Amino acid sequence: MKTVSAFIEQAKQELQHLYDDSELQLIAFFLLEDVMGFSRTDLQLRSNQDLDQKSLERLNDFVLQLKAGRPLQYVLGYAWFSGMKFIVNENVLIPRPETEELVEWIISHHENLNGFRARNSILNSHISAMDIGTGSGCIAVSIKKALPAATVHGIDISEEALLVAKQNAEANAAAVNFFQDDILSMDFQNSTGEKFDIIVSNPPYIRKSEMNSMAPQVKDHEPHTALFVQDEDPLIFYIAIADFAKTHLKENGQLFFEINATLGTEVRDLLLKKGFLNVELKKDISGNFRMVRAVPNHLTT
Ligand code: GLN
Repeated sequence: MKTVSAFIEQAKQELQHLYDDSELQLIAFFLLEDVMGFSRTDLQLRSNQDLDQKSLERLNDFVLQLKAGRPLQYVLGYAWFSGMKFIVNENVLIPRPETEELVEWIISHHENLNGFRARNSILNSHISAMDIGTGSGCIAVSIKKALPAATVHGIDISEEALLVAKQNAEANAAAVNFFQDDILSMDFQNSTGEKFDIIVSNPPYIRKSEMNSMAPQVKDHEPHTALFVQDEDPLIFYIAIADFAKTHLKENGQLFFEINATLGTEVRDLLLKKGFLNVELKKDISGNFRMVRAVPNHLTT
C-alpha cells in the first residue's frame, strides 16, 4: 500500500535529474489525472488516500518510462492542444504551446475580418485551409473545430504521422482531408487546382548544430524528420512553402508560419524577397518571435 503523497514524493525523487520542481508537480498531476481521474484540487484533498495495487502498478510503470527519458506525452499516449486531446506517439511531434498561439492568431484574424457579428460569421466561414507538415494534425483539426464550415486539408510526408492525424480528426469529430505528399517535390509544387485562403505550416526548423543543447527527451525521442534541417539550408521548407503559397493562395489569402526564434529576420527577408506583402513577425507569450504572417502580392505571381 502507498498513499498518493508517498507516490508523488517517490516519483519526484526518481525524476528529479530530468525535470525541475514545477515540471515534477505537473507530471505528478497528469499521471494521477490519467490513472485515478484526479482533478487539480484532488492532489491536496486526496493526498492521504491509499492507492490500490492496480493503479500503483500503472503509475510505477509510467514513472519507469519517464525515468528512461521518454516524454510524458508519449508515455500517456496523448497531449492537450487547443483544449482538445490529441493522440501522440513517436511518429509525430508533440504539439507545443507556441503552436497553439499560432492557431489562435489564425482564428482571431478571421474573427476580426468578420467584425462585430463575429460568432455567426465564423461558424459560416467557408474558407479553405492547407496545413503543410501536419504531424499529429493538431493545427488542421483545431482550425476545423474553430471554423466548422471551412474545408481543411493536411499533408505530411510520413504515412505513420498521417495515421495519427486521421485518428485525431476522428476522435475530435473534425472532418479534415489528410493526404501524403512531399512539399519539396516538384509534383507538389506544380499541382494545379484548388487555391486556399490559409496556408499554414510549422515545418522542421531546428539546425542540426542546435541538437547538443536540446533536452534528451526531445532529441532522443521525437521524430528527427519533424524537427531538424541541415545547417547549410535551414530555410529549405520555408522556401518551398513560400513558393507553393505564391501560386496556391487566393487573392486575399494568407500564409502563416511558425519559426525558429533565431531566424525571424531571415524568414521575413525571404518572404519579402519572394514578393509577399504585409510580412508580420509576432512574439509568443515568452517574448520570442515565433510566428510570421504574410499575404501574396498577386501582381508578382
Ligand atoms: N503540425 C504539427 C505541429 O505543429 C507537426 C509539425 C512538425 O512535425 N514539424 O505540431
